[in-house]
Amino acid sequence: MVGKKTLVLALFPLILSIGIAPAIPFADSQRYMDTIYRDDSMTECRQGLYLVYRIPNADYICTQDTTAQRWEQLGIAEIVSKGTIGEMLKETEDQIEEEILEEGLRVDIIPVKNNISMLIGVNGFSGGNVGVLAGDDGLLMIDDGLESVLDKITTQLEQLKTCETCGDVKFLVNTHWHADHVGGNSHFGEQGTVIVAHENLRKVLSSPQTLEYFNATYDTYPKEALPVITFEESVTLHFNEETIQVIHLPNGHTNNDSIIYFAESNVLHLGDIFFKGNFPFVDLDHGGSVIGLTNNIEEVLNKFPEETIVIPGHGELSTIQDVRMYHDMLVETTNIVREQISEGKSLGEIQNSEFPENWTLWESGRIDTPTWIEFIHTDLTRNSNP
Ligand SMILES: [Zn+2]
Ligand SMILES: [Zn+2]
Repeated sequence: MVGKKTLVLALFPLILSIGIAPAIPFADSQRYMDTIYRDDSMTECRQGLYLVYRIPNADYICTQDTTAQRWEQLGIAEIVSKGTIGEMLKETEDQIEEEILEEGLRVDIIPVKNNISMLIGVNGFSGGNVGVLAGDDGLLMIDDGLESVLDKITTQLEQLKTCETCGDVKFLVNTHWHADHVGGNSHFGEQGTVIVAHENLRKVLSSPQTLEYFNATYDTYPKEALPVITFEESVTLHFNEETIQVIHLPNGHTNNDSIIYFAESNVLHLGDIFFKGNFPFVDLDHGGSVIGLTNNIEEVLNKFPEETIVIPGHGELSTIQDVRMYHDMLVETTNIVREQISEGKSLGEIQNSEFPENWTLWESGRIDTPTWIEFIHTDLTRNSNP
């Protein structure tokens, strides 16, 4: 097709090729741009006198209808579609959207620092963010996403290994028990990966569970999916020249939350105690608490240096500044609900009253503002002293 394109340009020097959508890659974009600025048939195109013709390879040519017909007759170029600039722009946008839909969910590797990466779902939900430390000792993973994306995750792990023989996942640390963070546990456990987590996580996975909010039930996990090393407060791993501190924080997102700190690289995986830019889910049925979560986030802000890079449980790679904004949201939305409770308002009344817009911006498809208010309300009213 490149040959044909060159031929078109050679035979019709006054005909220009224009790149309409920047998302479409062009082999020789600079030359195309030069042509656009030199040729005045662009004016005709803008005025709607000429049409835009799309030829294979997503190249666009603005010309007269008679010229386009001649190309086809001569076999110089095949016309895929034609229309006004507006119509062709729309066609391109639709095409890109279709490609995204067709491609579906994928898992991307985001380099974090040194040999630490984050795996994140794009075009859909793949579960929580996965942290990976690679090196000569092998791989260490933090969480392993939804079971349904296991293939995509293992494919990306292959990319991250630093040598032929160091691709085994030696350690897997779970931040908490939710299925979007432990979906690959059985697979990795079977492969001989050592799973590490807080002792409550092992307890929770060892019996059937219900998450009423998501209307979901979970069977007891098989033996191979369970952590073989558990701890009460913290445990430290020494792996790939990195000191990895796994620290339990009490009753926040769940009763089995751990955060993981890579001390040399100054990278922190916070699991689901931190949803970047969104209201978090709080698992009130498994020891979660909005107040506890807020205290835990405050502890994180006090404990770790300002330049720490933060991997959230959900959302893009973050900074301590992002965590601070999240902390402000937790504190201030809780204060709003607390105040209204003290005025004697019911949950429904609080949900129906105006909520400041700067906080409603934090809602997501999963946790909207009324739900977030309910989490806070439930937590405050079940504690004796709101
Ligand atoms: Zn999650
Ligand atoms: Zn979670």
